[in-house]
Amino acid sequence: MTAHYDILIVGAGHAGAQAAIALRQAKFEGTIAIVGDEPEIPYERPPLSKDYLAGDKPFERILIRPGAFWPERAVEMLTGRRVVAVDPAAHTATTVDGATIGYGRLIWATGGSPRSLICSGHNLVGVHAVRNRADVDRLIGELATTSRVVVIGGGYIGLEAAAVLTKLGKHVTVLEAMDRVLARVAGEPLSRFYEAEHRAHGVEVRLGVTVDCIEEADGRATGVHLADGEILRCEMVIVGIGIIPAVEPLLAAGAVGGNGVRVDSQCRTSLPDIFAIGDCALHANAFAGGAEIRLESVQNANDMANALAKTLTGNPTDYHAVPWFWSNQYDLRLQTVGLSTGHDAAVLRGDPATRSFSLIYLKQGRVIALDCVNMVRDYVQGRSLVVEGKSPDPAKLADTNVALKEL
Ligand SMILES: Cc1cc2nc3c(=O)[nH]c(=O)nc-3n(C[C@H](O)[C@H](O)[C@H](O)COP(=O)(O)OP(=O)(O)OC[C@H]3O[C@@H](n4cnc5c(N)ncnc54)[C@H](O)[C@@H]3O)c2cc1C
Repeated sequence: MTAHYDILIVGAGHAGAQAAIALRQAKFEGTIAIVGDEPEIPYERPPLSKDYLAGDKPFERILIRPGAFWPERAVEMLTGRRVVAVDPAAHTATTVDGATIGYGRLIWATGGSPRSLICSGHNLVGVHAVRNRADVDRLIGELATTSRVVVIGGGYIGLEAAAVLTKLGKHVTVLEAMDRVLARVAGEPLSRFYEAEHRAHGVEVRLGVTVDCIEEADGRATGVHLADGEILRCEMVIVGIGIIPAVEPLLAAGAVGGNGVRVDSQCRTSLPDIFAIGDCALHANAFAGGAEIRLESVQNANDMANALAKTLTGNPTDYHAVPWFWSNQYDLRLQTVGLSTGHDAAVLRGDPATRSFSLIYLKQGRVIALDCVNMVRDYVQGRSLVVEGKSPDPAKLADTNVALKEL
């Protein structure tokens, strides 16, 4: 065995980094190491499809903490090493180079890997995911020779990338299999608003389309072949169709899970002394009516890490935090609080034509979520409606003369 740590964190992303930070803040004095498969120390992922892709922020400015922070806090950073196996009985993790690391307690914070297309051409040069720095650096490296980009997937990451690349002067086509963009995460008025915004900025948005394969010449992507036979010529394809949680080693070790690893209210997996947090953690969420879900957000990664650090330092704490999220596209800042999945009514507050409005989601009369576009006040004031599950009069919710804090 090469080393032993009181707490070994697998995954040097948002959740893993925050777990180490919060453990030290809670005065945990044992040894901590973070083992991550990327070569970098922890950095923020959201800018990858925003300022970093646009070239507006250098890498150093998206680090979660400066390099000196980690040794100062006695957090050992084992970068560039992928954990491939866990032995819960022996309390060891094995990395891809065969090294074995012992642990007292293990925090699994591995996020997920981008779901790739399954059609032919999915792995050609010129086909990109947007999940880590290497993905985006590769993509940026090809921009000089790219004029046409096809983005497959009209979710947040695909749309953010489309907005940046359009601003950089590329001709962008977004392909979405459903009949509207953001269909999995937002109500129809919000989808239609973003669809119109992208079109107004010159993006070609194609809805209800199925990709057949990626066309190639000399190993490079040259176009996207649609199921109806049409070929969209391009030099670059960006695939933003979700992630697959990176939990194979834990499931192979016997952890309960499937779409993520299942954790209880204190982030415990079914394996002894093994916890999971962040994108990979399948948990019962009160804001989803108790349904077992995975959340893919910085809020969830940080708040789970903070709750777990308390639990591991003798203050057992349930994870119970209101979900929030943001997305930047063009000059539009979307802020979301709560989870809209399962809503049975939506109230539009303000006029989308002004590019400043909110969409408020209700379930059986109770406010479960808000999507606020360039509307910070509603986002701030509407939060307590979600947290407290209030049931205000929908007419008042729609009335912009009534402040949400008065409801
Ligand atoms: C382009 C992009 C834009 C986003 N924008 C937003 C946004 O605007 N707002 C928002 O709230 N959220 C956003 N997100 C989501 C947010 O970044 C994630 O929810 C967050 O990073 C999750 O943190 P995590 O620690 O669970 O996973 P990650 O941050 O993905 O970290 C996991 C780390 O573990 C590593 N790893 C995986 N398997 C292993 C292994 N076996 N051994 C060692 N290391 C391993 C991974 O390579 C990675 O470095 C965005 C994500 C992306 C990709």
